[in-house]
Amino acid sequence: MISVFGSANMDLVAYVAQAPRTGETVTGRAFRTIPGGKGANQAIAAARAGGRVAFLGAVGDDGFGAEMRATLAGAGVDVRGLRQVSGSSGIAHIVVDDDGGNSIIVVPGANGTITGPSGDDLAAIAGSQALLLQLELPMEAVIGAAQAAQVSGAPVILTPAPARPLPEELLDAVTLIVPNEHEAAAITGASGAEEALDALLKRVPEAVITLGAAGALYGSRSGERLRVAAVPVKAVDTTAAGDTFVGALAVARGEGLAPAEALRFASAAAALSVQREGASTSMPDRAEIDAFLRG
Ligand code: ADP
Repeated sequence: MISVFGSANMDLVAYVAQAPRTGETVTGRAFRTIPGGKGANQAIAAARAGGRVAFLGAVGDDGFGAEMRATLAGAGVDVRGLRQVSGSSGIAHIVVDDDGGNSIIVVPGANGTITGPSGDDLAAIAGSQALLLQLELPMEAVIGAAQAAQVSGAPVILTPAPARPLPEELLDAVTLIVPNEHEAAAITGASGAEEALDALLKRVPEAVITLGAAGALYGSRSGERLRVAAVPVKAVDTTAAGDTFVGALAVARGEGLAPAEALRFASAAAALSVQREGASTSMPDRAEIDAFLRG
């Protein structure tokens, strides 16, 4: 079982010609509610890629919470560890303008009530083959979960997004860190990906830096270095490409694939996802990934 301890948000997306200024009202063109949050996205990606996955997190007692639960369960994710708290679910209020620019307000809601792994979370983590973490929950909660996995011997895969300073006590418990190039630069202060990889490997045993359409760079402290090209495809919407990549990577590693094969599997899943709109709606299932890899 792969456990994901993280955020579940409902994305509320309004499409307008131009975002309103303070005091102004504008008429938008379209509106969509899209289940998201990095934790939920990674859980769905891993389940669709063929993993047995449990999601540990919280939603509010509103309609969005019920919808998030149904979406996760519909993707085959075990939601027994998804608790309901009173108040609002996490939401991301997103305005997309005609130039493709966006402005986003994230209200953590239920996600922000998680101060650490619960007893049930600890039991789930103890029985897990890997733990996926991101930084959309309070830092103390992320650290608590990482340390619990370290104690039970489950590898911890951290997506350090949104980028923020990473405490040593977190990194000490991380096996593999997977930033995109912007996050890698923000964390390490390095200018190039190779240099950022060197800096990351001083702090964690393994790192992958994803480089969008330029692929991904992998390194381990044992000296292995790999660059994997992205699969050339026509990208329509790259939302959650990174989350799809990480979810699939966790599944491949769990099946015992060596780094080069695991990265190829993750790159194929991500390449399939960028050819479709949306986040969870764009993630490929196992049969699609396998067919794509067979060519
Ligand atoms: P994030 O979504 O976190 O910003 P990236 O943009 O680096 O992450 O994308 C993650 C992975 O998704 C890349 O390493 C690559 O494998 C795949 N990917 C992203 N954009 C494209 C693209 N335009 N074409 C093919 N694959 C892509």
